[in-house]
Parts: sequence; C-alpha cells; structure tokens
Amino acid sequence: ASERVKNHKPSIWVEFTTLAAECQAVNLGQGFPDSPAPKFVTDILKNISEHPELPACHQYTRGYGHPQLVGILAKMYSSLYGVNVNANDEILVTVGAYLALYYTILGWVNKGDEVLIIEPAYDCYYPQVKMAGGVPVPIVMSLPQDATSASQFTIDFDAMEKKINSKTKMLIINNPHNPTGKLFTREELEKLADIAKRHNLLVIADEVYEFHVWQKEDMIRFASLPGMYERTISIGSAGKAFSVTGWKLGWAVGPKNLLEPLKAIHQNCVFTCSTPTQKGIAEAFEADWPKFLSDPQNSYLATGLSSELKAKRDKLAKMLTDGNFRPIIPDAGYFMLADYSHLKTGQELKGHEDPADFIFSRWLCREKKLAVIPPTAFYSEPEMKNKNDHLVRLCYFKKDETLEAAEKILKELG
Ligand code: PMP
Ligand code: GLN
Repeated sequence: ASERVKNHKPSIWVEFTTLAAECQAVNLGQGFPDSPAPKFVTDILKNISEHPELPACHQYTRGYGHPQLVGILAKMYSSLYGVNVNANDEILVTVGAYLALYYTILGWVNKGDEVLIIEPAYDCYYPQVKMAGGVPVPIVMSLPQDATSASQFTIDFDAMEKKINSKTKMLIINNPHNPTGKLFTREELEKLADIAKRHNLLVIADEVYEFHVWQKEDMIRFASLPGMYERTISIGSAGKAFSVTGWKLGWAVGPKNLLEPLKAIHQNCVFTCSTPTQKGIAEAFEADWPKFLSDPQNSYLATGLSSELKAKRDKLAKMLTDGNFRPIIPDAGYFMLADYSHLKTGQELKGHEDPADFIFSRWLCREKKLAVIPPTAFYSEPEMKNKNDHLVRLCYFKKDETLEAAEKILKELG
C-alpha cells in the first residue's frame, strides 16, 4: 500500500454500523433518518424516471454540476450569503459533502501545511488532512462538567491563536456542529473570522446541517460575514437538506480562484456526478426556495424539517433523563450527546485499551441492543479522549417507533 494509507483504521461508521446490523439493535448510531424521505422529493425522482427520452435526466451532465442544480444553488446562496454567487464558476457539485471536503483539502493543503480543526470534530477531517500530507492541529472546545446545553461548548480564542504560526494554512469550521449539536453564535463566528483575516487563513465552512436549525434566522453562514466569502469554501449536502442521505450529493461554494484546485481534481477523478439525482435535487430546491423566502410555514427547509426534528429532540432528551443519562441539549442538527456515567450498569468494563465510551457503546449494542456512537472518535489526542470518555452520541432523526423501542431499553437501564 502507499504511505498515504499506511495507518488506515476502519472508521467508527464501519465498526458501529456493522455492529448495529449484526446485533439487530435499535439504531441511534449513524446519522440518517429512518423515517420515509419527503414524498415531494421522491416524487420528483419518480417523474424523472418516467422520461427516458430526456438526456438532461439520464446522460452525462455538465462536469462541474448540472446546469439546473448550480443555477438554483447560486440563487439560494447569493441570497443566504449576501454576495453574488456565479452559477458556473463558484459552485462545484460532488459526490456528497465528503468529496467536497476532500477536494478542498487535497486542492489546497501542501505537505507540512497546518490545518486548525475544532474538536470534537467530524471524524473524516483528520485523516483527510493527513492523506494530503498536512498536519492537523486540534483546537479543543471545553465543556463544563455538569453542562446541559451544547451551547456550553466554547473555544478559547487566545489559546487557539497561540497555535497559529507561519505554516498554518487553513481552518475547518463545522456549523451546526457534529457531534455536539452546537450552533455557533454570531459573536463566536466573528471572532473566528477576525482570526482568519489576521492570519490569512483559508476557511472550510462545513455547513451540511444549515437547515437543521429551529429558527432559520439563527443560522449564520460563515461566508455571509464581512470579507469572509473571499476566503471561504462552504460545503453543503443534499442528503442532509432533503433527508435523503443515500443520494450522496454535495457541493462546494466559493470564489472562482478558490474552487479552481478542486475542479482540477474533480475533472480527472469523478468528472461528473449522477444526473438524475442532481436534476431531482435541483427541482426540490426550486420548489422549496420561494416558500423558504416568503411562505416559511409551507417550506420543508424553513420549518418542515426543523419542527419534525425539534419534537424528536425533546422526546429523546426526556427518554434519556428517565433512563438516568444526562443529555446535553443540542441547539441544532440531529445529534445529541449524553453523559452515561451515572448509570449503575455497563461501567464495569472500563480500563481497557480503548476509551471507556467505546467499551460502553459496544456493550450497549451487544447486550442491550441499542446502537450509539462513542464521541471520543471525534478527538485526536489521547488525553482529550480520556477526559471526554463519559458521553455517547445519539441520532434522534428516527421515526417514533424507533424512538419508542429505544425508550424501553433506556427505561430498563435507568
Ligand atoms: N460533514 C459532516 C459534519 C457530516 O456530519 C457529514 C455526514 N454525512 C458529512 C460532512 C458528509 O456528508 P455527505 O453524506 O453529504 O457526504
Ligand atoms: N454524518 C453521519 C454521522 O455523523 C453519517 C456518517 C457516515 O456514514 N460516515 O453519523
């Protein structure tokens, strides 16, 4: 194998999704909705399938993104960022947000370049930076011992700035944040923007959960801050926006000069993404966007998604409390962290080589048939894993039936 993949280990998704299936566990682990996808979205795809004669539906489409999809994305993000986003030059459609992230890192990070990653962090950033030859530099958020809200995760900006040197090239921000469910405030984002500007950093804004906020006004997109569009590559996901994670369609948005390196990789690597799903997502946005702007009560992206999610969040929080877990209530997204250390069972296996949350999560899945994700997978340093091994991450975007099955298990545990 190449040097690049020498230290490869299976990710938590591989381990815990496989384990959940093997144990036939109630799955609150990997983040995907198990309720039906929105019918207006699947109906669009059905309609596309009924037109085999249309090349715009079934043959190769424009390499950097289906004209109809980049068209509506440009319209939306121009409005959401308050800048003029050019459909042809400033958007690149990719296979999921994963690939947009990887293109950005591979296209910009040289050997030895340092990349600031706010931890806990979505687990693919670190290996992607390593594969590009870069050096991940963790900026660890702190959380008070008895925290009850994801908003209590905070960045020490002075400590962060001390980690910046002449090799620091890039900052990765994930907002709304996975795995904590934190929604960064304008003040926090402005501080990050100020640091990015003073140290001339390129910013990745992974905003795949941008529509999973309780009030659409609460989502501050990084590229909308003064002077930030010029230095930011924003990442989005159709799988997240329309709750169709299996469609695996994502995009990078940013100024032409920032996207050129990504396009250079894309044209020789994937060249073009699947046409019917791009057309389908374009039509879904075209149908929803006017409502998002002027009829939010009937818009999936403005209120449909979040009202469904909020009810589920509250249900899971109550179930966890009744089961003697201590939930950390998320501000956004579809994940929740919860402290399991007050339970009377499942703690006895601590002291193994792996962090305690891994041991606990495997036990919970095998013995109690409830699948969750151990959040120390989102930290890179052993001492931070040790300090944060008392939590589990649960996905609450699940149908009531699934949540009720989990409720029974949690009740028995408590
Ligand atoms: N970023 C974050 C923070 C995520 O949670 C995910 C999970 N899906 C991704 C990126 C990747 O998204 P996609 O499925 O569109 O590749
Ligand atoms: N992003 C989702 C999560 O955090 C799914 C991850 C994956 O399947 N790789 O759970």
